Amino acid sequence: MKIAGRVTIDDLPRICPLVCRQTNPQYGSDRRRVVEVGRVQFGAGSPVVIAGPCTVESWEQTLELAQIAKASGADMLRGGAFKPRTSPYDFQGLGVEGLKILRAAGDQAGLPVITEVLDVRLVETVARYADMLQIGSRSMQSYPLLVEVGRMGRPVLLKRGMAASLCEWLGAAEYIAKEGNLDIVLCERGIKTHSSGEYSRFSLDLNVVPALHSLTVLPVIVDPSHATGVASIVESASRGAIEFGCDGLIIEIATDRLDARRPVCDADQAIDPPTLRRITRFVRDRDEAAPVEARVEEYAL
Ligand code: PEP
Ligand code: MN
Repeated sequence: MKIAGRVTIDDLPRICPLVCRQTNPQYGSDRRRVVEVGRVQFGAGSPVVIAGPCTVESWEQTLELAQIAKASGADMLRGGAFKPRTSPYDFQGLGVEGLKILRAAGDQAGLPVITEVLDVRLVETVARYADMLQIGSRSMQSYPLLVEVGRMGRPVLLKRGMAASLCEWLGAAEYIAKEGNLDIVLCERGIKTHSSGEYSRFSLDLNVVPALHSLTVLPVIVDPSHATGVASIVESASRGAIEFGCDGLIIEIATDRLDARRPVCDADQAIDPPTLRRITRFVRDRDEAAPVEARVEEYAL
């Protein structure tokens, strides 16, 4: 039976020829496109660790967390200035002021910065401050936004829509690539399943990592913070993601100073500095023990 609109991975060469491995034979069966953000390289072998607050809430908080991220061995700083909140009455982020804070904190710590762009009208503004543009889960199928971000020519982190299939996700990546920008990193951040919200926020789909490596030339990172929503399991999720061969992690952190204010946004999934240090140490040790060439999973789809 033919069903209108149904696509399978056999359709990928037609849906997304620019990001599909089959239609890009120059990458062979396992090489990835290397996406550079300053000196940071995604897909070159060593996993990249991005860390920082869920949301830029103040100068003090962001400057402190940037230093912690750097001291813990992270490669990049994250932090939301425009936040996609479930309720319009919830804190929406500091906006342009948040971008300025993030930029200054990254510069002070010597880390490139990534932040989400939510609105097609603000792509240029966000790109003025950020080294990498993040498309959030809720915006993955916002096609005009993808086109505009593609035109900016700035590296993009494309998060998976929380209910998106692999084909829909790669179709979204193709919208960016079609504008001449193949500097795209994919990010698995958990999907909705029957158990989402029962014992974790979403269901972390690590199976998708080797599948994407087989089907696309783009690097793939994992967000264990939003995928779990539970700080105490972020470290295990990070280790698991690395074992599945991902090209990096993006992790939310908060200070463990007793006198500090709790984060307004996503406090329950923010890990403390010692946990981030353990994760980055694991990532580096694992990388030295078994470099990526030796760890390409056999995964023929
Ligand atoms: C985020 O990383 O700040 C975020 C909102 O994540 P997601 O889009 O995956 O929910
Ligand atoms: Mn968050």
